Amino acid sequence: MQLNSINPKNNKIINSWDVHKDNEIDLMISKSYSAFQIWKDTDFTFRLECIKNISKLLSDRAKEFGNLMANEMGKPVKQGIAEVKKCVWLCDYYYENSEIFLKPVDIQTDYYKSYITFQPIGIILGVMPWNFPFWQVFRFAIPSLVVGNGVVLKHASNVQGCAYAIEDCFKEAGYHEHIFKNLCIPGTKVDNVINNKKISAVTLTGSTPAGISVAKKAGENLKKTVLELGGSDPYLIFEDANIDYAVSACIDGRILNAGQSCIAAKRLIVTKKNEEEFVEKLRSKLSLKIMGDPLDDVDIGPMVSNDSREEVHEQVMNTIEAGATLHMGGYIPDMRGAYYPITLMSGVTPGMPGFDEEIFGPVFSVITANDNNDAITLANKSEFGLGAAIFTKDIKYGEIIAKNQIQSGVCFVNDFVKSDPRLPFGGLKMSGYGRELSSYGLMEFANIKTVVVND
Ligand code: NAP
Repeated sequence: MQLNSINPKNNKIINSWDVHKDNEIDLMISKSYSAFQIWKDTDFTFRLECIKNISKLLSDRAKEFGNLMANEMGKPVKQGIAEVKKCVWLCDYYYENSEIFLKPVDIQTDYYKSYITFQPIGIILGVMPWNFPFWQVFRFAIPSLVVGNGVVLKHASNVQGCAYAIEDCFKEAGYHEHIFKNLCIPGTKVDNVINNKKISAVTLTGSTPAGISVAKKAGENLKKTVLELGGSDPYLIFEDANIDYAVSACIDGRILNAGQSCIAAKRLIVTKKNEEEFVEKLRSKLSLKIMGDPLDDVDIGPMVSNDSREEVHEQVMNTIEAGATLHMGGYIPDMRGAYYPITLMSGVTPGMPGFDEEIFGPVFSVITANDNNDAITLANKSEFGLGAAIFTKDIKYGEIIAKNQIQSGVCFVNDFVKSDPRLPFGGLKMSGYGRELSSYGLMEFANIKTVVVND
């Protein structure tokens, strides 16, 4: 059996990869486990040196990896280069801060000595999606490895070229052989890997159904999970918002990666007073965006596959059929490749796919609220709880609403949601649990161990 990489701009197979057989998987995990026994005791400065090396390597090869992503999953090459540079930022951040984060903490008790130490827990399985094929892997692997854990990667079936390129980077950067390993397997094989006794924990970034499946299997084995799942982020444009600014932020927050991002601006909730102006300005700015070959200087490339495009188109059609108004897009273009035009709908309400479901494509769903309070109610009327954004000139009010009233793991005021190595990232409700990035992400796969010494 093979996994195929298919270029979505022309639907041609560009590479095929042999799937690892069960006995090969067992052997690879055993080797990773042996490598972990050495890695966990390596000098901490050596682990930091490896991060420094991989950061340099990524910097040097950003363009090559940008092209690889463009060919394998359709991301415009300039966005792919930016993704690699963000991985460099993440590496530099953990290079500079890991020692501080992992410093033992003395706690005063009645004993001679008592303190907390942060120890590795073993081999971490990372099940990753194709949409940010470098970023998603680095954001879990770098902190996991610096703690002293080993990593096995099960990347999405369609981006094995990226997966192997990442594995090569780790090797070339000086990481011990087998401490970062790519398993070339489909999602159906993940349960077997979770059952393997040498795997200690699992982190999955992907859809909610995949997260539920992994959590079940990991639960049976009492293995820790971190789940970064789907989202349908609400963007609340309050009565007093600067509409021009909000429109630009919503566009930036939605069209990255052709809308195939977990934290994209998926539900734009605008009050009645501003609706007409908001929709018109959105339509006018969106009409200037260019769709085309991801190797060119374009705003959006193709979607990842024809199947994904079909799914998005069906959600759009069902939303229109349920009563929403279509302003632009909403059709399958007569051209080769998995292209889907930027689509704008208004009058989207609860009960429509554009409101209730995650639309993973370049689709703008505008929802009308009676007032600010109604906007908050609508924002929370979702099974997801990943990110959210609020636009208002009253930043004190915006901050209070962001802090106390929005059901999400991340809420921005007057900007679109983006991840940042310095800030914890993760969701609530059906968007998952656990955190990545910052010191909080680092601690997810550390044994926070209490040591007490009695004299
Ligand atoms: P997906 O179908 O869930 O796939 C993600 C990964 O899970 C892939 O490696 C996939 O393998 C594997 N997988 C699928 N079903 C599985 C199962 N039942 N058991 C174990 N593994 C399974 O998601 P996707 O379409 O690639 O990515 C889009 C989704 O990811 C969206 O919902 C998006 O919002 C979410 N996402 C969330 C975040 C976040 O940080 N919260 C970030 C990015 C994306 P195969 O490829 O072999 O099927």
